[in-house]
Amino acid sequence: MDISLVIPLYNEAESLPELTEWITRVMNANKFSYEILFINDGSTDNSWKVIEELSAKDEHIKGVKFRRNYGKSPALHVGFGRAEGDVVITMDADLQDSPDEIPELYRMVMEDGYDLVSGWKKKRYDPLSKTIPTKLFNATARKVTGIYLHDFNCGLKAYRNEVVKSIEVYGDMHRYIPYLAKSAGFSKIGEKVVHHQARKYGVTKFGLSRFVNGYLDLLTLWFFNKFAVKPMHFFGFLGSLMFVLGFFSVIAVGVYKLYSMYHNMPYRLVTDSPYFYLSLTAMILGTLLFLAGFLGELISRNSVERNRYNIEKEIK
Ligand code: UDP
Ligand code: MG
Repeated sequence: MDISLVIPLYNEAESLPELTEWITRVMNANKFSYEILFINDGSTDNSWKVIEELSAKDEHIKGVKFRRNYGKSPALHVGFGRAEGDVVITMDADLQDSPDEIPELYRMVMEDGYDLVSGWKKKRYDPLSKTIPTKLFNATARKVTGIYLHDFNCGLKAYRNEVVKSIEVYGDMHRYIPYLAKSAGFSKIGEKVVHHQARKYGVTKFGLSRFVNGYLDLLTLWFFNKFAVKPMHFFGFLGSLMFVLGFFSVIAVGVYKLYSMYHNMPYRLVTDSPYFYLSLTAMILGTLLFLAGFLGELISRNSVERNRYNIEKEIK
């Protein structure tokens, strides 16, 4: 099979027939063998009924129905697990992404050898309240991940099948799939300018909280990528810094004390010195950081990830 289309959706009933028709037109014109996987993420409208009707008429159409709303990442994860095509293409269900981009995305993966091609909504049809924070978000993501994409969170992306089977999207991590792919060793990541349209039916499913959460997730991924199986390298380093700081502060306290005694200055308590408080805080923080490090090591020692490597080839 050439292409698996993975389409997560939450309350998009109005868009589905139009979207399916458009996809079918593109697929037939290019003679692709394909499947459409609709992942109904706990919709409360009649999206599922629409999917049932569509799939009764067309055997290319498959569907999964979540019992409740889990989020876009879980929907993608389930779709990725089931995708059989050589190239897996994800798109939003709201008609904001154009199926006309599919042939070129497919070509870039199969012929140009990209592991992942991400859409870039160069000209966006979204409100300013969304486009401006998005710019900031992408700039940060570029810096942290070292992947030079303009538009990390574009719903329209194409992957070599192997890529989606090697990564695990969860939580809200769909924003950083290129980073997950890179961490799994797929480094040929490309970008294609794609057409974008204003939402025709329904409303956006993500509010402004996406930016706060997106930033926190980026921190998490950065941490995972660097320290997941060696947390002590992170916590132990900071803890040691604290102890060094505490050590020098204690010396300063002692020196002050002796100095004031020799020079017959009025009697001073060690607690009169600001360095006393500094050393106290540093020692406590240092101990806590080491404790976090040891706990982290215990957890990662028992995690399934600790010895998971993505082996590309093997000769036996
Ligand atoms: N979506 C989903 N589960 C959710 C939220 C969204 O499957 O909990 C789907 C949604 O139906 C759409 C896609 O994810 O197909 C992108 O969502 P949306 O268009 O609301 O995001 P935006 O375009 O505003 O970034
Ligand atoms: Mg949308």
